[in-house]
Amino acid sequence: MRLRNKLALVTGGGRGIGRAIALGLAREGASVAVAARTSSQVEQVADEIRRGTQSESLALACDVSDPESVRRMFADVTGKFGKGVSILVNNAGIAESAPLIKTDDDLWLRHLAINLNGTFYCTRAALPAMLEQGWGRIINIASIAGKAGAPYIAAYAASKHGVLGLTSSAALEVAARGITVNAICPGYVDTEMTSRALEHIRAKTGRPAAETLEAIKNMSAQKRLITVEEVAALALLLASDEGRGINGQAISVDGGTVR
Ligand code: NDP
Repeated sequence: MRLRNKLALVTGGGRGIGRAIALGLAREGASVAVAARTSSQVEQVADEIRRGTQSESLALACDVSDPESVRRMFADVTGKFGKGVSILVNNAGIAESAPLIKTDDDLWLRHLAINLNGTFYCTRAALPAMLEQGWGRIINIASIAGKAGAPYIAAYAASKHGVLGLTSSAALEVAARGITVNAICPGYVDTEMTSRALEHIRAKTGRPAAETLEAIKNMSAQKRLITVEEVAALALLLASDEGRGINGQAISVDGGTVR
């Protein structure tokens, strides 16, 4: 068990990629706090951790786009475990598509508020304890859309490009203090987020979801969706001591589609 005595916080830990990372961290011995807006989902994941591993877990309701909610979340985690977070996984995110000229202010600001501001608020709140401990890992779940734009996802791509800028700057700022900050850039992953995207395209265009799914798979070099376990495996490496030399990187998990 590589992460015994570590305290991890996974935002967006109630389902999909965040859930897989939370379970992976717990299997490696970390205590894991899981946060999202939907309490029932994070409660369920925390329950799964307590029953399936020897790790402690705490479920928290938090909206990462709200700085006060983030402040409360960190206070609750520190209060419950009596120490600061040493592994932060900024995974909470949304993805909605629209042509640029139909992207209204709300859609644009929602993406920046959750995907980018949320990552900033949590990173800023986590760093003081990491600096004090002289050890920390920050893992931002970005996207290949953080490296290359695509039609109809300007707001999402802009927010994820921002996450990569935040990642490389923060990484350099704390590099000599035992802390690493990295981003994982998945291609399309088999989660509810992708199912919702397929359903959205079906509603807008009438194109059957199965057909769009095939088109999405064909866009990837390996002609398939990525699994949540593949993303979690990289997160575990980045969280471990063995991963300490990897810093400020944006690592794609996409079968080689985007460099
Ligand atoms: P899901 O929609 O399945 O899960 C997203 C999680 O984030 C949920 O737990 C959700 O819970 C939480 N969340 C959303 N908004 C907020 C908020 N304001 N505050 C706190 N939690 C929030 O998505 P995935 O698991 O697929 O995606 C996870 C991350 O991976 C995202 O950042 C996404 O952009 C990224 N990603 C996903 C890809 C994919 O193809 N699926 C590809 C590349 C990157 P709730 O709604 O209850 O708050």
